[in-house]
Amino acid sequence: MKIAVLPGDGIGTEIVAEAVKVLEVLDLQFEMESALVGGAAFDAHGHPLPDATLQLAKDADAILFGAVGDWKYDTLDRPLRPEQAILGLRKNLGLFANFRPAICYEQLVGSSSLKPELIAGLDILIIRELTGDIYFGQPRGRRMATDGHFPGAEEAFDTMRYSRPEIERIAHVAFQAARKRSKKVTSVDKANVLETFQFWKDVVTEVHAQYPDVELQHMYVDNAAMQLVKAPKAFDVIVTGNMFGDILSDEASMLTGSIGMLPSASLNSKNQGLYEPSHGSAPDIAGKGVANPLATILSAAMMLRFSLNQEEAAQRIEAAVQKVLAQGLRTPDIYSAGTTKVGTSEMGDAVVRALG
Ligand code: NAD
Repeated sequence: MKIAVLPGDGIGTEIVAEAVKVLEVLDLQFEMESALVGGAAFDAHGHPLPDATLQLAKDADAILFGAVGDWKYDTLDRPLRPEQAILGLRKNLGLFANFRPAICYEQLVGSSSLKPELIAGLDILIIRELTGDIYFGQPRGRRMATDGHFPGAEEAFDTMRYSRPEIERIAHVAFQAARKRSKKVTSVDKANVLETFQFWKDVVTEVHAQYPDVELQHMYVDNAAMQLVKAPKAFDVIVTGNMFGDILSDEASMLTGSIGMLPSASLNSKNQGLYEPSHGSAPDIAGKGVANPLATILSAAMMLRFSLNQEEAAQRIEAAVQKVLAQGLRTPDIYSAGTTKVGTSEMGDAVVRALG
């Protein structure tokens, strides 16, 4: 089993080191190789995704990724910015299905801004399509308007588009994931306004005919945003497009209290995957040794489950994380009175000990 380890920038290096620590004590045969990505790769090689890093990722069964980005790169041309590395990896590896579970751990109910009764026991899975939609649709750009409200004025435009195969494959992923859970899928769209999402709704409905045992509900994105804070436990699997998924998955992540707890996986059709925490490189706390490594450690557990076929090891890690939370250990982002504040590496060490 070959794992490409790409720590990236900011807290990426600190949190990935803890996940690697956890993987190393499991009794499994891994080959792990690290490479630079993001701003660190730009500084060393002039590109956020150097050829050697891309090749390492392509040759691996899975990629363990930290985070990329720092405000100091914001003035670079867009293709050279650190975040382009993630887009490049998604595109080159065909990573079209993004899994973001939002789980509220019993011990962290008090960290959420919502009332405990609304989020206790929350366990939802957002499946976001990753390679299409308005983020990638062509044409896009700036030009002088020839029509619209202000002909002759400068304007910018993007193109929202989805093809039938793109929608079909993400719908299959969602229905199959739902079969392993409570057999309920909510497909989120904006079919009342957008042609692209009327098509999305039609195709998801067609694919659903192959999954009669799974319940399908359609919901407009504005309503979904409201329901996520009103009654989040009413959802199980949510499937949606790239842009709506980007926004709703961040909203869902905050239901659980801290983005520092939430793992994610991006998979292609061969189950090769990129595993990363849902948060960014957090330049504001980088180098201070206070970042929460649990999202990255839980991403490593997802990696074992989805790409490396090691369900038992995945469950061991998840149980160890529950155990350290039950012991009252907390990084500052999830700290509350009566618990014990620890740093990044202390938290990693505690998970290693809890593995038993
Ligand atoms: P961010 O997720 O990095 O940080 C948002 C807030 O959450 C900050 O206050 C940060 O301190 C806190 N936070 C994040 N992760 C944490 C952790 N593990 N433990 C404790 N606190 C944590 O988002 P941002 O500040 O908007 O972006 C910072 C940089 O990260 C930008 O350059 C952005 O482009 C990049 N980014 C990268 C990714 C990625 O690599 N996938 C994702 C989002 C943002």
